[in-house]
Amino acid sequence: MRTSSVDQIILEVLAQEHAHLTSLQIFEVIRERLPAVNQSTVYRALERMAKRGQVSVSDMGTGSAVYELVADGRHHHLVCQVCGCILTIDHEEVGRFFTEIEAQNQFKIATNHLILFGVCGECGKNGG
Ligand SMILES: [Zn+2]
Ligand SMILES: [Zn+2]
Repeated sequence: MRTSSVDQIILEVLAQEHAHLTSLQIFEVIRERLPAVNQSTVYRALERMAKRGQVSVSDMGTGSAVYELVADGRHHHLVCQVCGCILTIDHEEVGRFFTEIEAQNQFKIATNHLILFGVCGECGKNGG
């Protein structure tokens, strides 16, 4: 099996799901299409695609890294540590902040999926 076909199927799966998936979840979907694939092949393909900037890898506080397609446009998230809800913020605002940091520190930011943890409005209201 050529590795490029695994990459291609991973891209298709991520494009279909429009979600943050763990490598195990991705592996389970891929296995239906490629029964011979093993988990480390999928994992290595994801690592490779993350390095190329095709997918983002994030820790959303669930204990395992999640992968998402970057092609849909850069975005970032606010994750509530009380109820676990996930808000999405678009890159425009964060991009301005990134540009400032880059200029001040002579640093090129590669993060394409920023996760900020905190307490959402609902949970804050409830005294959480
Ligand atoms: Zn995301
Ligand atoms: Zn909440």
